[in-house]
Amino acid sequence: MDIIKMYGTKTFSDEVMREHLPETVYRSLKDTSRLGKPLDPAIADVVAAVMKDWAVQNGATHFSHWFHPLSNVTAGKHDAFLSITRDGKVIGEFSSSALVRGEPDASSFPSGGLRATFEARGYTAWDPSSPAFIREGTLYIPTAFCSYSGEALDSKTPLLRAMQALNPQALRVLRALGNTTSQLVIPTVGAEQEYFLIDREKYESRLDLKLCGCTLMGARPPKGQELEDHYCGRIRLRVADYMKDLDEQLWALGIPSKTKHNETAPAQHELAPIFETANIACDHNLNMMEVMRITAKRHGLTCLLHEKPFAGINGSGKHNNFSLTTDDGINFLSPGKSPAENKLFLVTLCALIECVDNYADLLRMAAAVPGNDHRLGGGEAPPAIISIFLGAEYTDMLTSIAKGIRPSLRDPAALNTDVAILPRLEKDNSDRNRTSPFAYTGNKFEFRMLGSSQSIAFVNTILSAALTDVFARFAQRLEGCDDLETEVAHIVADTIQNHGRILFNGNNYSREWAEEAARRGLPILNTTVEALDALQNPKNVDLFCRTGVLSETECHARHEIFMENYVKVVRVEAETMLYMAQRQILPACVKYMGLLSDSLNALEKAGVENQTLRQRLVALSRQVELLVQRCDHLLESCHGSRNKDLRQRAGFMQEEVRSRMALLRESCDTLESMVGAEYWPMPTYTDLLHRI
Ligand code: ADP
Ligand code: MG
Repeated sequence: MDIIKMYGTKTFSDEVMREHLPETVYRSLKDTSRLGKPLDPAIADVVAAVMKDWAVQNGATHFSHWFHPLSNVTAGKHDAFLSITRDGKVIGEFSSSALVRGEPDASSFPSGGLRATFEARGYTAWDPSSPAFIREGTLYIPTAFCSYSGEALDSKTPLLRAMQALNPQALRVLRALGNTTSQLVIPTVGAEQEYFLIDREKYESRLDLKLCGCTLMGARPPKGQELEDHYCGRIRLRVADYMKDLDEQLWALGIPSKTKHNETAPAQHELAPIFETANIACDHNLNMMEVMRITAKRHGLTCLLHEKPFAGINGSGKHNNFSLTTDDGINFLSPGKSPAENKLFLVTLCALIECVDNYADLLRMAAAVPGNDHRLGGGEAPPAIISIFLGAEYTDMLTSIAKGIRPSLRDPAALNTDVAILPRLEKDNSDRNRTSPFAYTGNKFEFRMLGSSQSIAFVNTILSAALTDVFARFAQRLEGCDDLETEVAHIVADTIQNHGRILFNGNNYSREWAEEAARRGLPILNTTVEALDALQNPKNVDLFCRTGVLSETECHARHEIFMENYVKVVRVEAETMLYMAQRQILPACVKYMGLLSDSLNALEKAGVENQTLRQRLVALSRQVELLVQRCDHLLESCHGSRNKDLRQRAGFMQEEVRSRMALLRESCDTLESMVGAEYWPMPTYTDLLHRI
């Protein structure tokens, strides 16, 4: 198989455009997609015609404006390339207006009050910077989704706004530092995606997995991840087949899938693509998640993208690797041979330190989804406290520069294995820190807090907006200074003095760190509900308004949408749990108790007294009583959430409903270990995790 040959065959790529579009149209479109020049409406006709011909030749019968409403899924309706002329002739049609503009009904998507103030009408607008692609016979056209009055109702629009705002300020910094060649600065992102694969038939017989994407109960299996035998272990044949199929489809779609391996938990895996422009990386990640699910189905498997499908073993995250790159290939976070003299590197490090310290609460918010609450801080993922890992080497370098001392960087040491035939390896400047939520990893920062089900758009929007703000100030300082080296040293000194508290190179899982972080005054936002309030914090609203990324109305709408989503998700989980406990587990227990009591009766008739069996029955009966009680309590608290305003309801779901769910779960799991295996009404953790 030739990856290069199959790569991008299903995407309206740069190559396809160059080949099929007239030279002037191609240039014009390229200027728009790369340099951010306004789209020339005159070229839309030609692009639409060429795009349609290419799509039809490649098996498409329909087109769809593909957009990302604020529900972490993608949406779009499908229209056939079909029209009937006045004299009854059937023709294949795709006009420029169909390419450029769509009109889905905005009232059926989360709008957070924007709908009440404005009209239900919504528009999708073609994003020429993200390539269209063909999947299952449809030409998908990436679009932005806005309300009638132009408010963003999606995750793409603010990201594009933030990238647009960042470019000129980042260029200013570059120019001030003497760069004369670069024309464009873009955020680059590589998103590593974790997921679980389980057998489809077993998935189908669990209501919690089907409705909530995660298990709501399940006793701890005899074997979890304790033997540490899954991470990067041999990939099972069935899984390997799936991964191969998946890769081929991703490559055809122009998604640069690169690395695959088994993850820590049983049945858990990871896929990492090569980094791309933030906007495209984001579209590709969402597309990839869809292809992962669809492909699993074809292999008799189910792909779980939930953050915490199973209690007691690791959940799934998404690592967002972030840097800034120019059109001529300069990476802002590349230290180069002499990092202490690399002004761009130093200034960018400082800018990010300031951003992360000032907007730690917003970054935490970007990872706030109900599923992630079970994961963050569990000693498997970063805690809910934001801090930066730079490594000792670069931390010392910055503190030295801040003190006016010339930093002495060690030459990279060699690794000695004491085996003559093995190659000499050059070591990296610093070791890894897997526990940090925001870690410098050599030429990029890795944000490790995102949940596996989330879109990566918001976190990159926040980073880009915050950088815009800081770069504008740094640029001003650098433009007006007498001596660049001195000014950069001042910037470093100010950053360490004002924002040094955000740096932490130790173990983020430790209790001491939580205490230390509190002493340093860092925000500790343990739950989604608390974290979402960052969207109402005036300093954050101000940042978004100042950079033109979100208006105040849009911030409040988002707060409402995410809060409402939280309430709905917890409610669905609670009701699913009640259904399973009352209508599946309770009857199973009663049936098994019948078996025990029949056996006891039979023994008694035969004149045999069996105390242990009797005790078993009594214990079971007590547990069943507790189960019923806890069901009643949960039901009660579900009703108790009514008649409250949205914020109160969310708090109530968090504190009351979720803690009662935890109690009910405890009962279900205890009963699972007491009831005969063939009586248990659903696949167990062992079935799900080890039998695929
Ligand atoms: P790690 O071992 O740190 O996870 P990898 O080299 O496997 O490192 O990279 C992880 C992800 O980071 C990949 O998706 C990779 O493409 C991405 N990445 C590498 N360089 C950059 C960069 N300059 N900007 C953004 N992402 C990057
Ligand atoms: Mg990584």
